[in-house]
Amino acid sequence: MSRFFSEKYAELEPYVPGEQPKDQQYIKLNTNENAFPPHPSVAKAAAEAAASLHLYPDPECGELRKKLAETLGLKAEELMLTNGSDDMLNFAFMAFCDEHIQAVFPDITYGFYQVFAKLNQVPYREIPLKEDLTVDPAEYRNAAGTIFLANPNAPTGIALSREQIEEILQTNPYNVVVVDEAYVDFGADSCLKLVRKYDNLLVVRTFSKSRSLAGGRLGFGAANPEIIRDLETLRYSTNPYNIDRMTMAAGIACLEHDDYNRKNCETIMKTREAARRSLEKLGFEITDSRTNFLFARHPGIGGEKLYRKLKEKGILVRHFGAERIREYNRITIGTEEQMEALAETIGTILRDGGIQA
Ligand SMILES: *Cc1c(COP(=O)(O)O)cnc(C)c1O
Repeated sequence: MSRFFSEKYAELEPYVPGEQPKDQQYIKLNTNENAFPPHPSVAKAAAEAAASLHLYPDPECGELRKKLAETLGLKAEELMLTNGSDDMLNFAFMAFCDEHIQAVFPDITYGFYQVFAKLNQVPYREIPLKEDLTVDPAEYRNAAGTIFLANPNAPTGIALSREQIEEILQTNPYNVVVVDEAYVDFGADSCLKLVRKYDNLLVVRTFSKSRSLAGGRLGFGAANPEIIRDLETLRYSTNPYNIDRMTMAAGIACLEHDDYNRKNCETIMKTREAARRSLEKLGFEITDSRTNFLFARHPGIGGEKLYRKLKEKGILVRHFGAERIREYNRITIGTEEQMEALAETIGTILRDGGIQA
């Protein structure tokens, strides 16, 4: 830390992204990227947009917002686009939390919530997941704070139903409830349509996972227009050009081929269930994932040890050190071939270690 760094950040621990090592080619199953590249027209649109990079992008994201509104069955004024959904989440902390309005989220969830709470210097309360790693909606009644829920949750992959989220919305009429739907397209209920019914709901979405655009950095929030206007005030006060020309063009092309994205999600869900079966055969216990990853532990081998052994053999998965989940690994669903290679490699590791399936 330099002697100039503001004291208010002295305790800040930044988010740690999944590793991206360059020392060898890995089968990368550690950052929940989509197994498939975007539709070919996406690269073409981005390349064409690059010819106009001497000009600022449209700060209103007019065309993209219109296309997105059509795709989702919402109005443009119910949407705001951001540089990845992390950007949107940060705006939500800025807008709806302060020293008097704490943030409330599960003890095991997306690591960025805690980072954003600290970054924005707001108090936060963590509500423990139940023993089976599910969120207990009853614990969020009258939560007295702005609620942040990843649904499905990360890294557990487990989802609440729309009815359970509605119960949380109804019992918190004086608080904003932020539902982070980064993985919702892989088999969970979306709350998008509920933004018309509840004026305290903010749904956060990303193009990174189900729409194969992690490298483009595109996310958005959906809420009633008043909430969106608050968020726009902050966006225009930080960086009104947060979506660059290439990403804007890529996003439009991506939505024009949304059937391609949907088909890929279906393939990934099928691959997920096949991978689940082969890992269960090897003795793994796996949560009920509605995402593009599996959260798995094996009674015969520790989470960190398995992570290390896999890395030695050229496969990256994500291990978290937190006490309650240290025996687990989070495994992104890749292609069918990648998942077969994973099961085979794990089989070898278990056999070499004399571990029974
Ligand atoms: C991946 C992820 C995000 C953010 O992704 P962006 O790439 O910033 O859009 C947000 N929430 C959860 C739970 C995620 O897993």
